[in-house]
Amino acid sequence: MYWDKEIETISASDLKQEQLQNLKKTVQNAKKSTYYKNILDKININTLDDIENIPFTSKQDLRDHFPYGLLAKDLTESVRLHSSSGTTGNPTVVFHTKEDINQWADLVARCMYMTGVRKTDVFQNTMGYGLFTGGLGFHYGAEELGMLTIPVGPGNSKRQIWFMQEFGTTAIHILPSYAIHLYSYFEKMGLDPKKDTSLKTAFLGAEPHTDALRKEIEKLYGIKAFNSYGLSEMCGPGVAFECLEQDDMHIWEDHFYAEIIDPETGEVLPDGEEGELVLTTLKRAAMPLLRYRTRDLSSIISEPCKCGRTHRRIARIKGRSDDMLIINGVNIFPMQIEKTVMQFPGVGNNYHIEIKKEDHMDRINILIEVHEEIFNGTLSKLDQLKKQIIEALKAECGVRPIVKLVEPESLPINEGKAKRVFDLRDKEEN
Ligand code: ADP
Ligand code: ZN
Repeated sequence: MYWDKEIETISASDLKQEQLQNLKKTVQNAKKSTYYKNILDKININTLDDIENIPFTSKQDLRDHFPYGLLAKDLTESVRLHSSSGTTGNPTVVFHTKEDINQWADLVARCMYMTGVRKTDVFQNTMGYGLFTGGLGFHYGAEELGMLTIPVGPGNSKRQIWFMQEFGTTAIHILPSYAIHLYSYFEKMGLDPKKDTSLKTAFLGAEPHTDALRKEIEKLYGIKAFNSYGLSEMCGPGVAFECLEQDDMHIWEDHFYAEIIDPETGEVLPDGEEGELVLTTLKRAAMPLLRYRTRDLSSIISEPCKCGRTHRRIARIKGRSDDMLIINGVNIFPMQIEKTVMQFPGVGNNYHIEIKKEDHMDRINILIEVHEEIFNGTLSKLDQLKKQIIEALKAECGVRPIVKLVEPESLPINEGKAKRVFDLRDKEEN
């Protein structure tokens, strides 16, 4: 079901009661897996707070008990497996029963419906189909909503544009980095997506991006773009999503129990404080996960949303706890750099961050593509922009980077999730 008023506007006390019942069921179910059997031996859930007695589950635990250690049902009851994209190491595998898949489709449909898309929309999915959850996850959700769904998959920009134009695509699911790259194809073909397509909505997800980048995409395409958060360990997309207010993402608390912890101490933090998001599946049958450490940094917003939905929101993901760069002792997140750089109108579509060691000191080099007219304009203008960017970065991050402004499309791009940080320090020391 894609719009269930009763569930989406449930009162806090009813939600808590439902969560408690489902948490109890989940713990019982998880006890059937070889991994959780011993861990949960002495755990009794009488109140929601009892969840804090359950130890965290990490990505490493999933890898160590690969492939079936966390499976709670007989393998014959699973109909599909998915795996993470392995951005930070070996992939982890997650199993789904038929009912798990149906629930996931409902969640994604619920997310899309919330942004105003309907059965009459035409949906183009540019995410990878296969093990990566971004493709099939959205596909099933879009079909559940009844939209004409075009499973183009990633890459081949010319073909993407052709499909968009031929079939009047109105909604698109796209990596933020690819949305920027695709725009340059429109330009090359002498097209303007604002006039030459029927696009009105984009779902941006799967990688961290700033609000500035979202606004840039909205401007370039003349659309509304919504932040979509998910991870394969929970299901994939469909975990948290922006509503029409575009003011952070509702996390579907009937399916996921969310906590924010201090990543250093593991202490549970109150709403509003920033830390690592920890999630528990409340309804998944094949492979329940309890207190899974996502490593994603966010905070929980408990203030009511104007849209009327009562499920709390999570703040835009600031990055992963393991993304943090330590530059001569100063902690920096790549998203701080993106936020700062993107506010300059002369800045183009891509940037790379390189960290090197020189004379035992960390040096941070930021290569930034600028627009054609800036790059080929006067030297003094280029120099002025560079100085402004350096000062802004110094103020935001506390370190003075070396900035190089480069030609449009001169930085290599990655198929799939963007790779923009190149830490070369270990390599040089060896
Ligand atoms: P991997 O961890 O190998 O990248 P997944 O494909 O499951 O595997 O990706 C999930 C991760 O992608 C999340 O944990 C998060 O770090 C990132 N991610 C997904 N959606 C968003 C989003 N909207 N904003 C920021 N990061 C996101
Ligand atoms: Zn809302």
